[in-house]
Amino acid sequence: MPREDRAEGGLGRRAFFSAGLAAAAGTAAACCPKVRAAAPGAHTAQRVRWRLASSFPSSLDTIYGGAVVLAERVAAMTGGAFEILPYESGEIVPGLQVMDAVHSHTVEVGQTASYYYKGKNPALVFDTCVPFGMNARQQAAWLLEDGGLELVHELFADFGIVTFPGGNTGAQMGGWFREDLGSLEDLRGLRMRIPGLGGDVMKELGVTVQVLAGGEIYQALELGTIDATEWVGPYDDEKLGFHKVARYYFYPGWWEPGPSLSFFVNREAWDRLPPSYQAIFRAASQEAAATMTNRYDAKNPPALERLLAAGVELRRFPDDVMQAAREASRQILEDNAAADAGYAKIYRAWETKRAAYFRWFGAAELAYAEFAFR
Ligand code: CA
Repeated sequence: MPREDRAEGGLGRRAFFSAGLAAAAGTAAACCPKVRAAAPGAHTAQRVRWRLASSFPSSLDTIYGGAVVLAERVAAMTGGAFEILPYESGEIVPGLQVMDAVHSHTVEVGQTASYYYKGKNPALVFDTCVPFGMNARQQAAWLLEDGGLELVHELFADFGIVTFPGGNTGAQMGGWFREDLGSLEDLRGLRMRIPGLGGDVMKELGVTVQVLAGGEIYQALELGTIDATEWVGPYDDEKLGFHKVARYYFYPGWWEPGPSLSFFVNREAWDRLPPSYQAIFRAASQEAAATMTNRYDAKNPPALERLLAAGVELRRFPDDVMQAAREASRQILEDNAAADAGYAKIYRAWETKRAAYFRWFGAAELAYAEFAFR
């Protein structure tokens, strides 16, 4: 959608018009049940228009694409009566202020990652991911089928926000380093862009941590304001061009083994939605989530091949980095739990499920991957 079209609300007028046409067609065709049944929106005439603020640039068709799929599906399922207009990072608010924008009802819905806001409540990280935590399938199972989302919703109730899982990148890469790393010692003193709890762990390992939104990272790395950055994985990283300014590409992103993105909805706006629109929003958010993960799994393999062909050096994190990071991660989680009963409640519940999931995935899935993926 062209930006000027959105700014003028042009799509909105078109959608309203076609919804009206559909309703009129339904009425005119009352003699013909087949046609009337096919007219979309005839029974859901209430018009709702929401603005969506994303934390991500529209150039990332994987992550930002989740917001576009949500908007398209909601419109399609309501004959255009329920409109969601997505705006990329910076158009309405900066990428890291999406939660505030939803809380204050500047926008009705946001597309973001809960762990960006751990300063508001450290326990919000469990909605996204935790270092050495669950992979994408495990995080989805916990949130949607094993009680996780209920615990997350308790946290967000304080902010007048309802959250919905909105996609997952899968296990991320460890990121781009201007210099090679031989051991844990080489990490000390580096300046790295890394958000969330992963940033807290890196601090423990001696790294100076910065949180920058996606659109700001390349320049900082190019100018040498930072020495390293993580972002997502081959497909998105290639688009942002990090390989042009940093040669060494490390894996795995142990701080993001399966980060779940979220749609945040303002509670008042949600409560005002007709129940049928709430059901449609839920279904559309699930389709958006599945689409995001599928795109990553399809687009990352050829992107990695292109990066390697361009001269990128692939590196596995040294064992002492992995071991120190896992120990620091555990200690941070335990310290946070000791300091706050609310944090302890969600951490213990999550930890119990993680242990069970790891036992199960450590059998068939792991044996298959170890043998077949090599
Ligand atoms: Ca990342």
